Amino acid sequence: MSYNVAIDGPAGAGKSTIAKRIAKEKGFIYVDTGAMYRAMALHMLRENVSPEDTAAVAEECEGVDITIRYEGGEQHVFLNGEDVNGLIRTEEVSQTASKTSVVRRVRERLVSLQQEMARSQDVVMDGRDIGTKVLPDADLKIFLTASVSVRAGRRFDELKAKGMSVSLSEIEDEIRERDERDMTREESPLVQAPDAVLVDTSDLNIDEVVEKILAMIK
Ligand code: C5P
Repeated sequence: MSYNVAIDGPAGAGKSTIAKRIAKEKGFIYVDTGAMYRAMALHMLRENVSPEDTAAVAEECEGVDITIRYEGGEQHVFLNGEDVNGLIRTEEVSQTASKTSVVRRVRERLVSLQQEMARSQDVVMDGRDIGTKVLPDADLKIFLTASVSVRAGRRFDELKAKGMSVSLSEIEDEIRERDERDMTREESPLVQAPDAVLVDTSDLNIDEVVEKILAMIK
């Protein structure tokens, strides 16, 4: 039997940073499900499919091939055979992903791929619906969160370090908008699973969060 850790939470809570560290410590595979929704969104942007037109998104997603491969221990997402890892972290793709991910057919396709990956290997999977929908029987479920201002502040520091000029209040607005959409949608909204452990990272550093979660796995 494979061991599965599910990590859910809002944008900017530190899910991917923490999940990657846990995976490395335990020798598990890290599965970033957001990257799959981002690749699907990139496809819609390229094909000029309006993300608000859910019928068109549902139809267009049928022919899209999204696969995951691991190179040098890192996850790479392939969109119709093209490695799109370097193209999916823009603000435009973030917002589009949160719109196209409300479409049931998009979710069905990606969820079955995710479940397939967890069946045969030990994984740490992060997203919005992992503990509630993708891996309801996960061995450990974490709901990772932090205050909006802390999450926006982290994102701000990250972008500034990359030399980008951004405004803190704009980032806060974008995070609020995306969370609102992710939490209120009909299909698999972002909610804490009843059996998930809540970890608020507002006043914790990365090492402290990793230690906390590793102790739960032991
Ligand atoms: O986690 P990340 O910010 O990369 O996710 C991008 C968007 O993809 C989220 O805002 C959310 O709308 C969607 N998503 C989802 N379900 C997941 C992972 C991501 O709906 N399991």
